Amino acid sequence: MRTLEQLVCPHILKMEAYSSARSEFKGKASVFLDANENTIRTTYNRYPDPLQVNLKNKIQPLLDLKQEQIFLGNGSDEAIDLLLRIFCNPGKDAILILPPTYGMYKVSASLNNVEAIEVPLESNYQPNVGAVLAAQNERTKILFICSPNNPTGNDFELDRIEQLIEGFDGIVVVDEAYIHFSTQASCAKWINKYENLVVLQTFSKAWGMAGIRLGMALANSPIIDVFNKVKPPYNVNVLTQEYALNQLQDLRVFKADIVAILEERSKLRNQLSGLGFVKVIYPSAANFLLLKVDQADLIYEYLVEQGIVIRNRSKVVLCDNCLRITVGTKAENQVLLKFLEAYNSKVVL
Ligand SMILES: *Cc1c(COP(=O)(O)O)cnc(C)c1O
Repeated sequence: MRTLEQLVCPHILKMEAYSSARSEFKGKASVFLDANENTIRTTYNRYPDPLQVNLKNKIQPLLDLKQEQIFLGNGSDEAIDLLLRIFCNPGKDAILILPPTYGMYKVSASLNNVEAIEVPLESNYQPNVGAVLAAQNERTKILFICSPNNPTGNDFELDRIEQLIEGFDGIVVVDEAYIHFSTQASCAKWINKYENLVVLQTFSKAWGMAGIRLGMALANSPIIDVFNKVKPPYNVNVLTQEYALNQLQDLRVFKADIVAILEERSKLRNQLSGLGFVKVIYPSAANFLLLKVDQADLIYEYLVEQGIVIRNRSKVVLCDNCLRITVGTKAENQVLLKFLEAYNSKVVL
């Protein structure tokens, strides 16, 4: 198996991090004349903490990891991009992705001139461990796994994920954007066991903070150190750090939201299953449902005409005629159902 030094791009290994004004200084001070800030202003005039220490202190107990095992970014999309830049030599290396999957892995790969090699999921939407491991070669540096998977909604079996982490000679990224809606345990518990594992989580979904752009990469400190070296020095702004800290003071809202969303998900599933054009509603461990229908394009267009936007995934591999619907509020789901029932009776007539 390749070591971290063999996996990280040589130019990244060599480079020196930007040394920001505040990170060069050690000790206690009350007068800061080091960063050319406007010192007359008193709010938001200072640069943010580059390593977000206060925020990580709050997050750390929720994850049972050390500070040095946490990277915070401008959404987990920033972490995805940094992973590509850290490990993949442009024009040479490749990543493995398992479609149908989250679109950003391939976009980030294209942006960085890195090939994305696709190994489709099995028809049950589980990763084909043998096929994935057979697809690796010297050029494949990162394997992206998304569990619960977007857009299919299912958990990948933990056994299969672990076989992939053990068998892949490179970095295995498990994107857990939807983990809080799942009954399956997070793979973050394996971080102390596997040097090549990176777990992504986000504040955009269950935490309800998509607007502030905050995501995280969890891994052992040698990997997190490289993240910290290459990230823009002030990648998480003051407003975001403050807001997240505030939200983390009390977890009751977070927990209650999850309960409410799961309850709505189950109601929505029941109601959708009564519609004639709905062929399959796939199991979901996330805050959305994937359904196979008759004529997905027509239903999608019809809903848009009513002012309702869902995600048409029918052009995606293994998702023929599939629509992805986010679980909305009670009221939103009722409106959706009302229109789908009207559509259903029109089709029947
Ligand atoms: C929504 C989502 C994300 C979140 O990205 P952020 O940049 O943190 O908002 C990441 N991965 C998957 C699979 C997602 O569906």
